[in-house]
Amino acid sequence: MGLGVGVCRGAGCMNQKEQIAKAIQEVSSVYQELAARPIERNCIARTECCQFKLTGKTPYLTRGEALLAAKAWRATGRKKIAPRDDGVCPMLDMPSGKCLIYANRPFACRTHFCAAAGGPYARREVVDLIRRLEVIDEQLGGDGPSPLPDAIARAL
Ligand code: SF4
Repeated sequence: MGLGVGVCRGAGCMNQKEQIAKAIQEVSSVYQELAARPIERNCIARTECCQFKLTGKTPYLTRGEALLAAKAWRATGRKKIAPRDDGVCPMLDMPSGKCLIYANRPFACRTHFCAAAGGPYARREVVDLIRRLEVIDEQLGGDGPSPLPDAIARAL
């Protein structure tokens, strides 16, 4: 993926690799903070929410989230995302029905709309974390959230 411009010029400036590593670390810390919040949810990985055609909803990812998801995807030994026309998330393994990047799944997959898991999080419960993801996106020169398959394919 192309971040376009460097962060700044001169000594002490981060190169692109460092910037990406820092962004990935920050996104991970947002996910950890979310997990530590006392918000009752019960995701049992039924994966209904991973079937975008079924739900009519596709998770949107900021650039930092996409970079982390792409890193997790590469760690599975895969380099590309195979196009799918069945409306199922490309991160979902078939036939095992498991998310291949579950530990690093995007924010929307954690705060999802799955009724069985308790429904969507109230925005007020997580708005500060959303803002942090937006700031990371801005720092990376991102242009806001984009649909999961495109966002991860661009980050690979
Ligand atoms: S990234 Fe994982 S949890 Fe999120 S929609 Fe895709 S398969 Fe489901």
